[in-house]
Amino acid sequence: MAIKLEIHATDPEVISLVQRYWAMNEECKPVENVSAMLPFREILKPHALAAYIRTQCTAFDENQNCSVCGCELSITSRSEVKRFKQHPLWPCSACKAELDEARRVAEAEAEADLQRRVAKHAERITALTTNYSALPDDLAFILLALRGAISPSLFGGRFTFHDCRALSPLYSEMFITRLYKAGVISDDPRATGSSAYFVNANGLNYYREKARFFLVPDELLGGGEEAFNELVVRTYTNKQSLLALWYDYTMADCMAYLHNQLEEYRQVFPLHKTEEIKSAIYTALKYYSTRDVWSMLWRVVQTVSSNSNYKYSNREKSAGTIATKLRLQFEKARNEKTDLGVWNRLKSLPAGALGQVFYELYGIDETTDASVIIKKLSDENPIERDETEASIDAQVKELMACALANGSGAAAIYDFAELVRNGASTSEAVEQITEIYAVKCADEVSTCSENES
Ligand SMILES: [Zn+2]
Repeated sequence: MAIKLEIHATDPEVISLVQRYWAMNEECKPVENVSAMLPFREILKPHALAAYIRTQCTAFDENQNCSVCGCELSITSRSEVKRFKQHPLWPCSACKAELDEARRVAEAEAEADLQRRVAKHAERITALTTNYSALPDDLAFILLALRGAISPSLFGGRFTFHDCRALSPLYSEMFITRLYKAGVISDDPRATGSSAYFVNANGLNYYREKARFFLVPDELLGGGEEAFNELVVRTYTNKQSLLALWYDYTMADCMAYLHNQLEEYRQVFPLHKTEEIKSAIYTALKYYSTRDVWSMLWRVVQTVSSNSNYKYSNREKSAGTIATKLRLQFEKARNEKTDLGVWNRLKSLPAGALGQVFYELYGIDETTDASVIIKKLSDENPIERDETEASIDAQVKELMACALANGSGAAAIYDFAELVRNGASTSEAVEQITEIYAVKCADEVSTCSENES
């Protein structure tokens, strides 16, 4: 028999009833129907009899065992009886109580450890300072924009990542994280509360959406608006880092536009292709203004939207081709000089605080040509006209003499103008033209002298 009984009753009639109720045949099926045992004293209904039996004994099934100690598991209904030995899946009640207690102790220890770590972290944070003047240009620039995005809570206040969303049309957290990594802003455990923290293999961590941050004070000037003003008047010397920041910002601006358009045309965004799409946008931004890239993205969304209705396609499949389609649009625009039209900023996608600072300091925005942006955010200091003239004087004399001598003066001037139009500086253009026309001249002179000898 697969059932073992622990009978609590002493009344022989009840003992006999319990044994009849739990009696099983060779197939582990009940020998008797419950109705055959009714009525029993004042009990008239089957479910009432089953409930009564449960109070008079505990039944154990030898075919079901505790996953920890291996003892037989108790069952409460005849339908739970198993004919064959079962793979142990759960613990008996004694083992479960032990496991629960062990888990409770471990959780309490982990909680105490978390509290200890958070308290220690809070102590460290209180003493934190930074050096605003040593801040790299791109981070100083982001900080300046952050003031525009969350002022006045930047000074002395606490803010969340979500509060900073006015920094950029998308990916504000990408810029905030840079400030965090550089130690310019920090999480504040006292304002955040320990529930926003957790411990993993790397130590103490915070949940980004729960943490509250603050501006770390300058080691000399403190954390007030005064200290910040020092930062505002700085001269940006590393424009290359601002150019990289511009590309990150405009990439976010284009991604925001893409999301908006996909939603507009009820298409999906292919999350697994995010990096590929970003990369295609970066490439296009090196040659086109932000609004030109919007125009390309608009065309891409039109194609993706119409392709998604094809017989063997769907929205997911079609969205998967966005990056490739953008690269095709870009190549087409480059090769065929496509007219990309005039695209205006959508009212629902403001430029954000970063865009504002770029406009205030450099006069650039979504309409500015890529070549102008590269020039404005270039590390070269503009050279005075006198200095330029003096530096190219010798080369120009040689160039003109040679070009005139072999009758290619007009061609040289034409090529020079073409180079300048394509973004070369005056001295760069002179140098390149000299290389072509002065070499021709030297070759011809040497040929002449050979003929004469
Ligand atoms: Zn057990």
